[in-house]
Amino acid sequence: MLVKSRLEDLAVFGAPPAFEEPLHVGRPNIPDRERLLTRFNDLLDRRWLTNGGSYLEEFEGRLAELSRAPHVVAMCNATLALETTVQALGWQGEVIMPSFTFIATAHAVRWRGLSPVFCDVDPQTHNLDPRQVEAAITSRTSGIIGVHVWGRPCAIEPLQQIAQRHGLGLIFDAAHALGCTSQGRPIGGFGDAEVFSFHATKVVNTFEGGAVATNSRALAERLSQMRDFGFAEEDRVSVLGTNAKMSEISAAMGVGGLESLPAWCDVNRRNYLEYRSQLGGLPGLEVIPYDDAEQNNYQYVVVNVDRDQAGISRDEVRDVLRAENVLARRYFFPGCHRMEPYRSERAESATALPVTEWLTERVLALPTGTAIGRREIEMTSQLVRLCWQEGEAIRARLSGPPI
Ligand SMILES: *Cc1c(COP(=O)(O)O)cnc(C)c1O
Repeated sequence: MLVKSRLEDLAVFGAPPAFEEPLHVGRPNIPDRERLLTRFNDLLDRRWLTNGGSYLEEFEGRLAELSRAPHVVAMCNATLALETTVQALGWQGEVIMPSFTFIATAHAVRWRGLSPVFCDVDPQTHNLDPRQVEAAITSRTSGIIGVHVWGRPCAIEPLQQIAQRHGLGLIFDAAHALGCTSQGRPIGGFGDAEVFSFHATKVVNTFEGGAVATNSRALAERLSQMRDFGFAEEDRVSVLGTNAKMSEISAAMGVGGLESLPAWCDVNRRNYLEYRSQLGGLPGLEVIPYDDAEQNNYQYVVVNVDRDQAGISRDEVRDVLRAENVLARRYFFPGCHRMEPYRSERAESATALPVTEWLTERVLALPTGTAIGRREIEMTSQLVRLCWQEGEAIRARLSGPPI
């Protein structure tokens, strides 16, 4: 690894990149290889590949334990898990949700023929602002979807009260929040249901996968029929279902991932603290904090860049880092409301989400996870500091013609 301390050392000025191999946000975590292959061999030997095998049962059982939700229904991804949950709850009309989320939250609702109504978020928590949620309720509203962005829990209690007061459903997109707590209680047991994702980039992955956690036995039973075409028993279909089953090889991967989760959270926490200490004191840069009184998975290290104070913009920092093979990512840029089909359908909402737009212009996720260590963090932080020192020259370089 090179030491970079001057302007000419930067790859955007023509120097070789700091890293030969790219550093990713959310490079997949791989559990213990030997145990994994033993499980894969076992399921191949038994020729039980999908449809409620023993690994699915074990994975769901372990998830229920971790999230302290009595019922867990695993599926092939979180998007279909959200969709089937919305359908199973009988929601219609409008669903209030943040625009500051991954596009799947909106698509899942829209794919069921409902309308997402985008609500602004709190500038500190990055999660739904309950007062604005209440203001967005109309006679057509049937539910609210809160998203635990970065794994930091939503304002759960106020949202529950609002849902109750107005007779609305409440679910949480907990794609980021496996292994996190709210006031000491694990994510998974709140609202009508919470939906986890086990996509390859999430803290625990099943290659692709998702799960619904719920306190309602009736909802869980309905969902487990819905994920299997609606079959209640052989030759009897009781409900409009789909194919959202999780395969055995995915479930076996998930069992290994849950075994490793505490160790991965430790690595993520160490990385987060390292970044915090390395990046401390830069004006206009905030490392988004986690509440140490709660359990967190620390899967995301996110900085907020205030261009006016920093003398350099989030996008310029990102360009500098990318040239060095540090693949820092904007999140959730440009916001769901600025993506299709929502952009064309509801053009007027584009101006009503000032905090969302402010965040999508400022937040940047830095590489972390088990593929990243102290050395990478030191170098990345050094590059970020160089951006602050040389902001003006970098801006001139990035916007002007080549020298
Ligand atoms: C990853 C993610 C999803 C989608 O999960 P899939 O399992 O890929 O379908 C939904 N919402 C949020 C907030 C996510 O981060």
